[in-house]
Amino acid sequence: MSDVSLQAARRRTFAIISHPDAGKTTLTEKLLLFGGAIQMAGSVKGRKAARHATSDWMALEKERGISVTSSVMQFPYGDSIVNLLDTPGHADFGEDTYRVLTAVDSALMVIDVAKGVEERTIKLMEVCRLRDTPIMTFINKLDREGKNPIELLDEVESVLGIQCAPITWPIGMGKRLKGVVHLVSGEVHLFEQGRNFTRQDSTIFASIDDPALEARIGAAAMAELREELELVEGASHPFDLGKYLAGELTPVFFGSAVNNFGVQLLLDFFVAHAPSPRPRETTTREVGPTEGKLSGFVFKIQANMDPQHRDRVAFMRVCSGRFNAGMKAFHVRSGKEMKLANALTFMASDREIAETAYPGDVIGIHNHGTISIGDTFTEGEKLSFTGIPNFAPELFRRARLRDPLKLKQLQKGLAQLSEEGATQFFKPLMSNDLILGAVGVLQFDVVAYRLKDEYGVEASFEPVNVATARWVRCANEKKFEEFRDKNAVNLSVDAAGEYVYLAPTRVNLQLAQERAPDVEFLATREHA
Ligand code: GDP
Repeated sequence: MSDVSLQAARRRTFAIISHPDAGKTTLTEKLLLFGGAIQMAGSVKGRKAARHATSDWMALEKERGISVTSSVMQFPYGDSIVNLLDTPGHADFGEDTYRVLTAVDSALMVIDVAKGVEERTIKLMEVCRLRDTPIMTFINKLDREGKNPIELLDEVESVLGIQCAPITWPIGMGKRLKGVVHLVSGEVHLFEQGRNFTRQDSTIFASIDDPALEARIGAAAMAELREELELVEGASHPFDLGKYLAGELTPVFFGSAVNNFGVQLLLDFFVAHAPSPRPRETTTREVGPTEGKLSGFVFKIQANMDPQHRDRVAFMRVCSGRFNAGMKAFHVRSGKEMKLANALTFMASDREIAETAYPGDVIGIHNHGTISIGDTFTEGEKLSFTGIPNFAPELFRRARLRDPLKLKQLQKGLAQLSEEGATQFFKPLMSNDLILGAVGVLQFDVVAYRLKDEYGVEASFEPVNVATARWVRCANEKKFEEFRDKNAVNLSVDAAGEYVYLAPTRVNLQLAQERAPDVEFLATREHA
């Protein structure tokens, strides 16, 4: 096997999907712990706090109780290299999350045992379904009273439309939580308070028939367990690798992230069965992960990761071949070679300079705005990966500047922040307004905050008479010029210099479309 095939086969690239508060952050910490990142004690939350110290930007996140930045964490586990792509939790950052989900090969769904399937989980699940992403499920907070596990599986099956194959099964719940049974290996892992609850240091019985187990948990719990297991067998599906990989069935685990209980069983199963990088579609052909030449696509841009340096980082998912530090790559959209200098990898301990990266890995490329979401990099072939969604803004506001002398900074800030993809920025042809479009209303607050924090500009956002936006284009240049002259009042250009029709009403849009049948009106800027 070639180096690339071998390394690709070791990769497990995934994201966690959940409703806020289900325990995503806590579970991430525990997973990193198993990955040997234990020295960063306090880990994910601690890291958030550390960044907070360097940038007040995090204060907003704290204030709102949401996670608005996402990152990439890589850790080795056994023979595997696990890449965990974090997703922002708040609904207003949905489109960012959706794009992260295009860059993973599988997902882990976390459900709060007391709350069951929640609204945000339903939405994210719909996104996973678009690509048949394989999903594993962790039912969390078993140390608390929650729903009956069998009814919970029922809920997952009926609400999310996916079959459940329990891999572990809880023995009791809340104060009566005794442990879990591994339904495949037969092992029983006890839940023992005050321990670390890893495979190594919790008490394990080889099977539920071990008499020592009954002595430990009592005859009543034992009888209840046997009865339940019989029910489970009748009410659930056996694990089927093919169905899991097709996104039709989800293996289910029970545990408590905060107690680090049931997490290692999940991780062991995950590295054994979760898919390594899969082939990816482009506009011309499918690209296999074992191909020798580098290819990848950009799924996320983050401006000002380090406010001291005003850097912009484009996150590229490697789809084939090998990335070597300092190599040149072909930026397909511009048709230019770019030196990928100072690219970052994301080891759990910290961002560091990448030496090599393989399919499934993510690298961060510093740039000054030349790279956009959806861009493809190759070693020369004109490929273009498909399926990276771009979202139509639904809300529009006009930026109002406190200090008119800061117009330049305002423009720059709006343009750079809109490169991240969560907002879009428009300059009308006929006025000096600066209009921002967003999918969620919270984004206006975020942008106002970041303008002040990162660009030193105080601005507010006020209502503007725009109901919807359409990117316009026309193959016939002369007809387009005509259209532009007639509709100048409603036209603006976006940050990339493309024409956008801003319609005050839906009716106005309809009329404009009828009057210009040769012009295409697109709801999103395409990332072709
Ligand atoms: P996120 O919003 O999904 O990232 O959730 P967090 O990981 O921040 O967890 C939300 C809250 O649930 C926090 O207060 C956690 O301490 C708590 N939590 C997480 N896992 C467990 C668990 O297994 N049991 C209990 N009782 N609480 C938990």
